[in-house]
Amino acid sequence: MVPSAALLVAAGERKSAMQYLIGAGLLDQRFRVVARGGDVVIPLKEMPAELPEGVEARQADAGIFEGRYSGDPYAAAVMETGLDEPLRKLLPKKWEMVGRSLILKLDPGLLEHAFEIGRAYAAALNAESAYVVLGRMRGKYRKPSMRLVYGKGGETVHRENGVDYVLDAASVMFSSSNHDERIRMSTMDCTGETIVDMFAGIGHLSMPIAVHGSPARIIASEADTDTFMYLKKTMEANSVSSIYTAVNADNRELDVADCDRIIMGYLEGTRDYLQKALSMGRKGTVIHFHEEVRHGMEEEWRRLIVDRYCCGRVRAVSMRKVKGYSALSDHMALDLEVLD
Ligand code: SAM
Repeated sequence: MVPSAALLVAAGERKSAMQYLIGAGLLDQRFRVVARGGDVVIPLKEMPAELPEGVEARQADAGIFEGRYSGDPYAAAVMETGLDEPLRKLLPKKWEMVGRSLILKLDPGLLEHAFEIGRAYAAALNAESAYVVLGRMRGKYRKPSMRLVYGKGGETVHRENGVDYVLDAASVMFSSSNHDERIRMSTMDCTGETIVDMFAGIGHLSMPIAVHGSPARIIASEADTDTFMYLKKTMEANSVSSIYTAVNADNRELDVADCDRIIMGYLEGTRDYLQKALSMGRKGTVIHFHEEVRHGMEEEWRRLIVDRYCCGRVRAVSMRKVKGYSALSDHMALDLEVLD
């Protein structure tokens, strides 16, 4: 998306030119002025018939503003798609960006216009590709359910908190709602620790520790081959290969003992993996245990996990909500400390 016209003026004449163009209602405020050597390029709704005395200007290529849209993407999409009023109202006011991939949830009534909508939002958000969510995560490897509606798709790099995550948003889960938990992991002092990430993904929770937490060693298992490939790429992007070992296997095959910390970031029957986690720990090991919990059942869940699934061998250090998961449940995290 670019403005209809652009004007090049000397930087010294920027102020008087801008005053005039704003007064004449010609400035396209959805784009920022771009500096070019000793000149500036001003985005316009249309070329002015005249300019104030003393201001010299010439028409510039508006293409310079490609990827520089800074207005409201929703407003841009309304304008660009040209949809009629009943459909306009259904356009999404929220979206997710994973690297340069845009993820949209569309009302079913908009699906036949998915390409135009994807293209308009992508232009406004400087995205390379746009996907439409088709449903919830699928299967035990938690694969996204999405359709590419605009662009070529494929690999992208998502930068968050100084960590580069390499992934294909259509084949690897990346939840922006887990942001606070990823940040939380990065703020823990893990100096000298040996850490196991049992459900690594692309290192969503352990890469922030590798980058910020000074661990001695991280061992991460990821069972899905495709996700594992992106985990390796993420390791390389963050230059952590000397301390981070990734294994393309089921975590129950890991041969590790006496580790300091275990991360269990998974929501499908995570409790069934607790005995394996306990076998890899020792007195003092901390386990970050995640599950989906029904509203109002949090205390009961905590007791069930501690007493029944860990046979009283742990104590609960803290419990927190990571995010709302469904109308009836939350994604919860329980920090456990091994007692014996
Ligand atoms: N732990 C990350 C987080 O919390 O953001 C990633 C979560 S992702 C939903 C869970 C990952 O665990 C998926 O990539 C899946 O392929 C992997 N996984 C599932 N079962 C596994 C198992 N038994 N062993 C190793 N990886 C497994």
